Amino acid sequence: MIIHVDMDAFYASVEERENPEIRGKPLIVGGHPDKRGVVSAANYPARQFGIHSAMPSALAVRKCPDLLIVHPRHRLYREVSQQIADIFWRYTPIIEPLSLDEAFLDCSGSEKLYGDSIRIGEKIKSDIANELELIASVGIAPNKFLAKLASDQGKPDGFTVVMKDQVQDFLDPLPVDRLWGIGKVGSARFKSSGIRTVKELRLADSGVVRNLLGQNSTKIHNLACGIDDRKVTPDSEVKSISQETTFAQNVSDYSAIESTAIYLTESVCYRLRKADLEGRVIKVKIRFEDFHTISRSQTLEGPSNLTQTFWKIVRSLIAEELRGQSFKIRLIGVEVSGFVSDPDQQTSIFDHLQQDNKSANPSRSVDSLTDEIRNRFGRDVIQLGRSVRQRKDP
Ligand SMILES: [Mg+2]
Repeated sequence: MIIHVDMDAFYASVEERENPEIRGKPLIVGGHPDKRGVVSAANYPARQFGIHSAMPSALAVRKCPDLLIVHPRHRLYREVSQQIADIFWRYTPIIEPLSLDEAFLDCSGSEKLYGDSIRIGEKIKSDIANELELIASVGIAPNKFLAKLASDQGKPDGFTVVMKDQVQDFLDPLPVDRLWGIGKVGSARFKSSGIRTVKELRLADSGVVRNLLGQNSTKIHNLACGIDDRKVTPDSEVKSISQETTFAQNVSDYSAIESTAIYLTESVCYRLRKADLEGRVIKVKIRFEDFHTISRSQTLEGPSNLTQTFWKIVRSLIAEELRGQSFKIRLIGVEVSGFVSDPDQQTSIFDHLQQDNKSANPSRSVDSLTDEIRNRFGRDVIQLGRSVRQRKDP
């Protein structure tokens, strides 16, 4: 069995724990409404007003004029996240974090020691409540897909177990958009074909489903039958390094987008080098005025952390999307992932040769020079030509 643990309204709950005076009142953690901030997390009293994450804070305040707005403290949330992970580690090393407040656990190897997965899930939930004064929702099921659905189904303060023989009864009544890979578009198409529930999808004619879903149809039909073979991939390391900027006002100027993108690329590459990481996948995220968000990525042949290498790709991805178009952009982000899993394994004779090549690479010497200056005088002291100064992360 797989366990999925997901903290309830994580940032907001941490803030409530830290400050008893705000406990139980409608509150969000997020940006300031006057500065076009966005809701990062809403507690459950705020959700009763229809407030949810990713919503503009200004809209949230209109929905609930007494709303309390707490500025995010990411360092604190990361610390608490580490404390949660420490609890997981008591029971299993096979932990796959999905975000700061969510993870899959495979406890099948620990059952002799601690009891079955249900018993372990109970212990984790109560350890988190007793030691961290926070509420986790737990889902336990035969695979990842079902475990995640299960934890979500019980929220808040949920504990949902789906046994093997209950899978179809659990899935069948759910709306089709609960299946991974069916977006808004997919569910609208289903609706117009009279398919609303997982059961209706499961029993639908396979030709119809293929028409609606194209190449994903087999995968999604499998999900509808509760089939998901993905393993829990233990990963205590970072999976990606990213940075994004929300503009104070929508930007429609191409060169301003490029300047920001180069700043973000530099910052991300600097962090990669500081963490001694090299990644292969670079992703650009663009959010338009209407909140429509796209991401475009490209994979390198070999891992890198050089600013110039990634900037060339970022620039071309942006050009492909925006050149010659008119646009209004709210947010732009850059992310590098696909890290080499074990840096120690890189130490081979070839790597030494490669290292030599790397130090001879002029981009590398520029990077190490700028890194050194940044390390000594701060991150924003030096930047590549066109990159403009942006506000720092809180
Ligand atoms: Mg959560």
